[in-house]
Amino acid sequence: MKEKIKLAQQLLAEKGHYQGGIDGIFGPNTLGAIHKVPGIDHGLPNSRKITMLIQMGAKEKGFDAGAIDGMWGPQTQFGFEELAFLMEHGRKRGSWRPEEMPAANRWPRQNSPEFHEFYGQRGQNLVSIDVPYELKIAWDLRYRARKITCHRKVAESLLTVLENVLQVYGENDIQALHLNHFGGCYNNRLMRGGTQWSTHSWGMAVDFDPDRNRLTWGRDKAAFAHPRYDEWWRCWEEEGWVSLGRRRNFDWMHIQAAEV
Ligand SMILES: [Zn+2]
Repeated sequence: MKEKIKLAQQLLAEKGHYQGGIDGIFGPNTLGAIHKVPGIDHGLPNSRKITMLIQMGAKEKGFDAGAIDGMWGPQTQFGFEELAFLMEHGRKRGSWRPEEMPAANRWPRQNSPEFHEFYGQRGQNLVSIDVPYELKIAWDLRYRARKITCHRKVAESLLTVLENVLQVYGENDIQALHLNHFGGCYNNRLMRGGTQWSTHSWGMAVDFDPDRNRLTWGRDKAAFAHPRYDEWWRCWEEEGWVSLGRRRNFDWMHIQAAEV
């Protein structure tokens, strides 16, 4: 409730109704300010007044928080989260639905005829790129790398992604969030637990931070599912790369330049 009251106080301050602290404490100042907002019935319970205020605030800023009725449901929760992000960061939260992301590239669907035509034989057309920040080798963090061997056709895009990651997060957050824990790219092998060739065999798939994004882990456990990685995913998805975690909710370490 405290977070909701804080947000309500921010909204009231924005409207010029409230001059007190943004402390999440519902006192007479907050109540008095709410009563200055047209459309809020003074006879309602205070919790419903707060909810209505948040619903109104969300609507005014372009988020759908459902009907302005003071009832807290999933749509209001959604509007609240979007609004809270906007108020905290001064910008709207990026879309977390991959299918809504505009992408620069459209990579061919995995194992389709177009895929084989586009990428050719496994283990061919490989180049080495210089990456913009130092990578730690995930299975032995004492080892470092500044190069990735990948397919010629994804090289430029991969570099763009990593340059954007560096720009967005900076070296410190890259370290802290394990964005430099590199789990490999080119590797001519079968899929784990499968009979088909892994996309790694063409050098157009990469793994990051495998320790905290294990193959069978879902959104509830995988580190990369956390909202602090939203920008990480934006960097990849802007370039059309596909996360198995985001699409299929397993193998969150794995990102590939192919549709699934
Ligand atoms: Zn992988």
